[in-house]
Amino acid sequence: MLIDSPYFPDELEALPGLLAGAGFEPDALIATHADFDHVLGRLAFPGLSLGLGQSSVERLHREPGAAQRDLRDHDEKFYVERPLPLALGQMQGLPVPGTVELGSEELELYPAEGHTPDGLAVMARWCGVLCVGDYLSPVEIPMIHPGGSTADYRSTLARLRPLVEGADTVVPGHGAPSSRETALRLLDEDIDYLGALERGEERPALPAGRDDREQRDIHRRNLESLR
Ligand SMILES: [Zn+2]
Repeated sequence: MLIDSPYFPDELEALPGLLAGAGFEPDALIATHADFDHVLGRLAFPGLSLGLGQSSVERLHREPGAAQRDLRDHDEKFYVERPLPLALGQMQGLPVPGTVELGSEELELYPAEGHTPDGLAVMARWCGVLCVGDYLSPVEIPMIHPGGSTADYRSTLARLRPLVEGADTVVPGHGAPSSRETALRLLDEDIDYLGALERGEERPALPAGRDDREQRDIHRRNLESLR
């Protein structure tokens, strides 16, 4: 199962060979949420259908063409050219909370909303891996998109805490995987940040490693989207 996707065309092109070299041949795709940079799996594996939480399927139907438009805007900014446009193709709505079978094992799906109005986290308990989408990133502060909220974000963090405690490795959508201890530290830092955001602080102390200019910019956009 391929969870989310890389972004650059050469990464997407290299992915099937890279995975095959490591002994993996995905037979399913899943996206943690419907943001454009998470739904590109079919550009690497055009024959597979994309699994999404029901809330993401509904969001894509509510905002037809939004993922394609956002991808095009982003590509223009970075001078990225693609051999093929993004076609989301066949989408499969997954039960959240719920489970999906993966061979003889089972993936647990949990709701993860707040960053956006949709979202899920994937727990592969048998191998100690938790994939959280755009939460618990070591390189990005909590980002609240339109339709997201700090209240939902807090509920998601509360839901994630026992899952992180039961995992060995936490894989975020942006940045490197974290150990359980690091992910728990990020979770506490994110709760502190949400407090500063809710208080409307213009220049809060941002967590170490996430206090650069881009993160200040994200904070400014967070303040705007909550006004
Ligand atoms: Zn996102």
